[in-house]
Amino acid sequence: MGQGNSGRSRRRFLKFGLAAIASAAIWPAEARIVDRRRLSFENLHTGERLDTVYWVNGSYQPGALHAINVLLRDFRNGEVYPIDRKLLDLLVQLQSRLHSTAPIQVISGYRSPETNAMLASYSDGVAAGSLHMSGMAIDIRIPGRSLRQVHQVALNMADGGVGYYPRSDFVHVDTGRVRRWG
Ligand SMILES: [Zn+2]
Repeated sequence: MGQGNSGRSRRRFLKFGLAAIASAAIWPAEARIVDRRRLSFENLHTGERLDTVYWVNGSYQPGALHAINVLLRDFRNGEVYPIDRKLLDLLVQLQSRLHSTAPIQVISGYRSPETNAMLASYSDGVAAGSLHMSGMAIDIRIPGRSLRQVHQVALNMADGGVGYYPRSDFVHVDTGRVRRWG
């Protein structure tokens, strides 16, 4: 009799154990500690806003990346371009070091070669070979943080290019080699 009981409970244990393993495989986010990277933006030209988790437990999320690419498109001609994932990770780091969760205000994200050439012909502040054309640069300000704070933290990170534009009230960050101007 005792033999029969222990056999049954062993089978039940196995069944339960297998169910737990199966659910962990199907819903890893439920079963383990979840590690996420989240960003929120406000595009100052279009007024569009986005708050999205673009990276979960080591995986970039294609839907979220696409939504970010759309928000950061060249608003002048509507061209969408894949934004460098390292740039997104850089922004997460920047926000974290600034202890900010406010939406990042975007002045300029992706720029098509045509738009960049047009802007460069008007302004000394726009480089002809700008990394904005490679989806590797963004011009931002962060509500509740001064431009000086954002600039200083970006410089401290020493993770790409940093440009300071106090008259236009934005900081440029990119994932090119480490350099600074402005
Ligand atoms: Zn820029």
